[in-house]
Amino acid sequence: MSLLEIDNVTLRFGGVVAVNQVSFSVEEGEVFALVGPNGAGKSTVFNLISRIYEPVEGDIRFDGDSLLRHPPHDIAKLGIARTFQNIELFEQATVLQNLLVGRHRHRKSNFISELLFTPSVREGERRHRAAVEKVIDFLDLQAYRDKYIAGLPYGVRKVVEMGRALAIEPRLLLLDEPASGLSVEETQDVAFWIEDIKKQMGVTVLMVEHDMHLVSAVSDRVLALADGKVLSLGTAQEVQNDPKVIEAYIGG
Ligand code: ADP
Ligand code: MG
Repeated sequence: MSLLEIDNVTLRFGGVVAVNQVSFSVEEGEVFALVGPNGAGKSTVFNLISRIYEPVEGDIRFDGDSLLRHPPHDIAKLGIARTFQNIELFEQATVLQNLLVGRHRHRKSNFISELLFTPSVREGERRHRAAVEKVIDFLDLQAYRDKYIAGLPYGVRKVVEMGRALAIEPRLLLLDEPASGLSVEETQDVAFWIEDIKKQMGVTVLMVEHDMHLVSAVSDRVLALADGKVLSLGTAQEVQNDPKVIEAYIGG
């Protein structure tokens, strides 16, 4: 069984078929990239997996379980974390606080036990801290730990955005354009992080990315979309050399 199964999914916005009978599967432990021209439907696929949108047709299964039975706030609890193309961090909070908020947002909360600061709350708090500190070490963010987001360079914020998602200890990480706006050197760093996330953390990665150097460097498999439909699936090289893909980029 695949970790994530997108099964014949369709979504329309008015007359636009943003995602048109799309099927693909992501295997546990792989880095899987979605590519395609602007408007191809890539972000919409992410928003369908995150349960922001409801498909009109098809099913989405995670670990064999239909996500369509779950409300959006359950998605993180099930083990799926995402980053946003436009970084969504709290500007007036530190790196550490942002990573902690990422975890607290989806934990079970019980007002009375929190108020009394019971042993179980203390234990929970300790686990949150430990998970967050692990991510800070892993992503080499020690120097920025207590710095405010507002003062950080864009490249560091991109890494923190990844950290916020990793702090919930997901099984599947959705990265929306992790290299957008980054320099060649910063993109190289992101490639190393993605390799480590896969190899050391054992997290499966599904990413949307335009930078084909990054896609080729880190992806096990690539799926090309155009006009909401699947065009091509294979290795980065196979997809890049597929005449249908070349046509979509040139003709598109
Ligand atoms: P990509 O991320 O591949 O650039 P999107 O998934 O954002 O593409 O968009 C796919 C298609 O759906 C486009 O035609 C886009 O204009 C349309 N679309 C996306 N989101 C919305 C929305 N919220 N309302 C209406 N149309 C949308
Ligand atoms: Mg997009």
